[in-house]
Amino acid sequence: MADKRDYYEVLGVDKNASAEEIKSAYRKKAKQFHPDLNKDDPKAAEKFKEAQEAYSVLSDDNKRKMYDQFGHAGVNSGPGGNPYGGGYTNFDASDFDFGDIFDTIFGGGGGFGGGFSNFGRRDTGPRATRGSDILMRMELDFDEAIYGCEKKFNIDVIEDCDECHGHGGFDREECSECHGTGTVTTQQQTILGAFMSKSTCSKCHGTGKTYKRKCSECNGKGKLKKNKKITISIPSGINTGDRQRVSGKGNPGTNGGENGDLYIEFVVKEHNFFVRENDDIYIEVPLTITESILGCKKDIPTLYGNVKINVAPGTNSGDKQRIKGKGVDNKYRRHKGDMYLIFKVYTPTKLTREQKDLVEKLNNTALETDEIKRFNRFTKDNN
Ligand SMILES: [Zn+2]
Ligand SMILES: [Zn+2]
Repeated sequence: MADKRDYYEVLGVDKNASAEEIKSAYRKKAKQFHPDLNKDDPKAAEKFKEAQEAYSVLSDDNKRKMYDQFGHAGVNSGPGGNPYGGGYTNFDASDFDFGDIFDTIFGGGGGFGGGFSNFGRRDTGPRATRGSDILMRMELDFDEAIYGCEKKFNIDVIEDCDECHGHGGFDREECSECHGTGTVTTQQQTILGAFMSKSTCSKCHGTGKTYKRKCSECNGKGKLKKNKKITISIPSGINTGDRQRVSGKGNPGTNGGENGDLYIEFVVKEHNFFVRENDDIYIEVPLTITESILGCKKDIPTLYGNVKINVAPGTNSGDKQRIKGKGVDNKYRRHKGDMYLIFKVYTPTKLTREQKDLVEKLNNTALETDEIKRFNRFTKDNN
């Protein structure tokens, strides 16, 4: 694989650039290199794709964090890697929403069609309408989301009054105002003559029935606010943005319509060491310089206890190792992720006299790798 350019460099922005700056920089690049606008430049398509890829990572908080922490290794799963959308090596524009950007660049049409008025709703008689849904956010610890958990919470739900079973009163009788029809006919005098107009009976609200005794529990409304204890069982693998539905705990319906649903949207907290990307888990594994040169055996923490791994001699910073099946066991999506170790060599900054002597001795031996030799040759030729 050819060496990839730094994503920030591709877009020409600073490492601390804001989301807005990144978007604006991308917009500029996309315009500059869009293949349709650069038919004469064979390199444009490649540059356009490069900018797309950079933007797809830097515009996504999660991916940007992975990239900042692990570089390209964090966002490019190698061959045979993460089958679950984690890999961005084969960048595919189809899984990325260009909508808002390209509309602005090319003056694309679109816009939203018509408003959402309640047209088509008849005013004759009451119609049972289902209540609207409620969305609630719930924060989960990293572990709670990984292993699943049970959560209890209290919520105010408006439900049918138990006393009057939602009727609002007792001893049903025919409405005296509309004689049980639910509608009243009134005559209106206008300059064009008399009109008969029908409207919903205001006394029985179109039901045609009234109650002799009003329910005192709900004050005739038929509905009561109840504080309910709700217990939900959260399957393992839930991630930020996932939702769970609790049936019938949303807003109340009208005219006997059922309650809407309650949706719980999860926000999962971060872990100090594990970094989650979909169902894969990444961890930085620090190595001393000698461990990286000689290779070593190392205990690695995983979601399922420690495992021992072999670090190959000559391991570099950014090298990656996959531990299959040690990612998130996602019961929600029925998918099991992998774990990725990203090695990072920490060069010591303080050495004892003796250590310094040893390193100097080592330095007098031929340590150049092929890359270093190539670089040195280029430097010489460049002179
Ligand atoms: Zn009536
Ligand atoms: Zn009642």
